[in-house]
Amino acid sequence: MTTAPTLTASSLATARDVAAWWWRLGFGARRDALLRWSAILGRRAPEITAVMRVEGGKADADATIELTVAVEHLRWAARNAERVLRRRRVRGTWLSPEQRAELAWRPYGVVGVIGPWNFPVLTPLASIGSAVAAGNAVLFKPSEHAPMVGRLLTETATEAMRGAPLVTFVEGGPEAGAALVTSGVDKVAFTGSTATAAKILAAAAPTLTPVLTECGGKDPAIVAADADLDRAAASVLWGAMFNAGQACVGIERVYVVDEVHDEFVRLLTAKAARLTAGRDGDLGAIAVPAQLDVITHHIADALDRGARALTGGLGAIEPPYVQPTILVDVPDDALVVTEETFGPVLPILRAADLDDAVARAESGRYHLGAAVYGGRQARAAADRLTCGMVSIDSALSFAGQPSLPFGGRGASGFGRTHGEAGLREFAVARSTVTRRGRQPFELTGYERGPHALPFAETVLRKVFGGAR
Ligand code: NAD
Repeated sequence: MTTAPTLTASSLATARDVAAWWWRLGFGARRDALLRWSAILGRRAPEITAVMRVEGGKADADATIELTVAVEHLRWAARNAERVLRRRRVRGTWLSPEQRAELAWRPYGVVGVIGPWNFPVLTPLASIGSAVAAGNAVLFKPSEHAPMVGRLLTETATEAMRGAPLVTFVEGGPEAGAALVTSGVDKVAFTGSTATAAKILAAAAPTLTPVLTECGGKDPAIVAADADLDRAAASVLWGAMFNAGQACVGIERVYVVDEVHDEFVRLLTAKAARLTAGRDGDLGAIAVPAQLDVITHHIADALDRGARALTGGLGAIEPPYVQPTILVDVPDDALVVTEETFGPVLPILRAADLDDAVARAESGRYHLGAAVYGGRQARAAADRLTCGMVSIDSALSFAGQPSLPFGGRGASGFGRTHGEAGLREFAVARSTVTRRGRQPFELTGYERGPHALPFAETVLRKVFGGAR
């Protein structure tokens, strides 16, 4: 592996040069280069997933799923950037028919991407893929807990660009991230905790540097009475345990309507009891030791408040692993219901009815994703949720749809990766109007004719004032 440079003034200058070269290449050449990158990632998948397993303790399946989805997003961004961002003529107004209006999307220039440790490929690549497809160069600081995967991403990008450092690795921890934010980059794309996002926004404020924030979540699932309970139990369990629960969009609480609650608990607990966390288990490790403390604290707090562990519990903590823990009789104010646990722990909460389930799912400061299981009632319940993404009758599926934007509201952050909105997130709208001929009632300028202002007054009074 190549040694990575740390962030210096010349890193930004080089990135600016690369960004200018990259933009000049045009959409077609960029698409080809990015598809080349995705092919390299595909070919080197065994090596990349092996590093993900060693560095982050991921289960085999979790690493493979993460890389597959990430590459599919990159391919989509490569193939769709021109359609979404190319210059186009837009409709003008009858008030100034002589003006031809055009909209184009220009890259920011250099984007600083800061990544988390839990999905060291999927989350940074969501930002990086959209940013480079939109014509930017990237300075990428991966999590200090996942530097090897970060290096591989930048190394493969450079290979695809035939040596041009389109994505430059920035080494280090929080201080390197802080330096990147104030380095003069044109935009920051941050994925990580809400607390860090707040610090980054404050640091970016003096220069008005725009920031995309993809932060934490406390995603709820809702199970209606008319759900296919066995399928819902299997899906909720996977949504809660995938990546050993270390997912911003992991299901962290499930509200089940009273009439099917007990049966759902029985089905889900039986399935959970068959899973194991371990070296060759269904669930991988908790990647960061400090996270084990949070998970332990949340389980202990719930048990102290009267919850019961149907599987797992405090005995489930076997560093670096945590066995799947299913909790019932958990009060709504327990930490495991209100705060991000980020572990394989699922509280099942009894709801009086669907209205009660929706109201409680809406509680809290995070509004990232959600899942709703049910028959005819599911869609209406899903539409009442204010989060950024919802899947009906499946878990986390929105994250795998390349055309759909990904992101949240509230403490889960703002801005979007993935899809058309993701591409536009990394581009600046450029409006151009071109005068073609004379306007009959030219309003602008001091040489307007005697009929121009009366014309405007008539429009205001008769057309706008009379309009409904
Ligand atoms: P974190 O906030 O501790 O760190 C994230 C990154 O920010 C790291 O690279 C870190 O070095 C850097 N950083 C820390 N302090 C900084 C500062 N002051 N200035 C600039 N950079 C700084 O988050 P984490 O523990 O690595 O990741 C877990 C969190 O990420 C969870 O809350 C999870 O929900 C969230 N997450 C969100 C998404 C999403 O798309 N919404 C995806 C994955 C993870």
